[in-house]
Amino acid sequence: MPGVFQLSPDELIRDATDAFKAGVRSVLLFGIPDKKDAKASGAYAKNGIVQQAVRSLKRELPELLVVTDVCLCEYMEHGHCGIVQQGKSGTRILNDPSVKLLAQTAVSHAEAGADIVAPSDMMDGRVRAIREQLDKQGFSDTPIMAYAAKYASAYYGPFRDAAESTPRFGDRRSYQMDAGNAEEAMREVAADIQEGADIVMVKPALAYLDILYRVKSEFGYPTAAYSVSAEYSMIKAGAEKGWIDEKAIVMESHLAMRRAGADILITYWAR
Ligand SMILES: [Zn+2]
Repeated sequence: MPGVFQLSPDELIRDATDAFKAGVRSVLLFGIPDKKDAKASGAYAKNGIVQQAVRSLKRELPELLVVTDVCLCEYMEHGHCGIVQQGKSGTRILNDPSVKLLAQTAVSHAEAGADIVAPSDMMDGRVRAIREQLDKQGFSDTPIMAYAAKYASAYYGPFRDAAESTPRFGDRRSYQMDAGNAEEAMREVAADIQEGADIVMVKPALAYLDILYRVKSEFGYPTAAYSVSAEYSMIKAGAEKGWIDEKAIVMESHLAMRRAGADILITYWAR
């Protein structure tokens, strides 16, 4: 992705400081571990890369709001968001054991000092499991921003390269949503709210403004829009070719997300 890099913890502090000075008050962290395995150990390791990053950000920039992405795919050798079972009829993702690891991951982020945890896996029942574990471990004040309506989307392509999380086999359609289905988004959002989500998210943003609008108007809940990697990369590419005015297109796109109901924008252009 043009202008987007993986950062070491010291580079993170430098970039986050620049962002903070520019008026960006919150960041969302994704981790790339040294080693990947079949149980995503790096996701919930006490000294995992995200846990280290959170601790140093809270130390160096205590006023910066730190949100952590809670998922397993970046830490799994196969790149799926959950535990994979190989069977005779192929592979499948095991929902419930995956949810346990996700809750463990969320707690370890909160222990490191994360202000908000953001589960992006789309497993069933994970918001409830995370809420229960956070409460049990003394983090009842840590809010959950749930990737509630997350579509299986070609718009994630550039990110998967950047985060080295492309699935080695299969795809994510057994747990992410079908682009043609708007009603399911409403059910997913309702379920996450019922399970204890404090903020609900729609992802991607620009191609799903109708979903964003419906989520905000039907639930009236704090709503985040995630403007994803291809939304970013396409505009960058168009601007590089001199076909579009980058700044004007960026402002108009983000204004559209706001207009559709986003209270929170997650965007590569924040700075
Ligand atoms: Zn994932």
